[in-house]
Amino acid sequence: MALNITSLLNGRLHKIEFEYTIENTEDNAIIPPSDVSFTAPISVSGYVDDAEGYYQVYVRSSIDYRGSCARCLEDVFGTFVLEFNRTVVPFGTLQNELNEEYIVVKGGLLDIDRLIVEELLLEFPSRLLCKEECAGLCTVCGQNLNHGQCSCPK
Ligand SMILES: [Zn+2]
Ligand SMILES: [Zn+2]
Repeated sequence: MALNITSLLNGRLHKIEFEYTIENTEDNAIIPPSDVSFTAPISVSGYVDDAEGYYQVYVRSSIDYRGSCARCLEDVFGTFVLEFNRTVVPFGTLQNELNEEYIVVKGGLLDIDRLIVEELLLEFPSRLLCKEECAGLCTVCGQNLNHGQCSCPK
């Protein structure tokens, strides 16, 4: 969703809250990491506020997913909570518009979905495990060792 923050930038409001759901993630270009699928619409909430001289956006998003364990390949279900803060600056007010720490807003529109895409790429675990102590598969016969030992020589 692109949030119009014009009334914050011109000082008429000091805080804008938002809450919405991303129903169809493909249409919104929120692509899950490889081998992972989203199992429910993504819920998003947060706010943008005026912190005396600069603006900041806070986003919290809860993402239900299904993936597979990196060791035993069994399905893994979970909810990933993405939570972040970014500094927002209006276009034309920074010396260096390419500074990646800031989100430069043009025309008063802040694209929240795009921020979620960026943060998800950085934060989503690159390796999922069904449990921390997953024993994995036997490299010889392929048995899932969480279900018991196989008879292969060790
Ligand atoms: Zn596993
Ligand atoms: Zn074996």
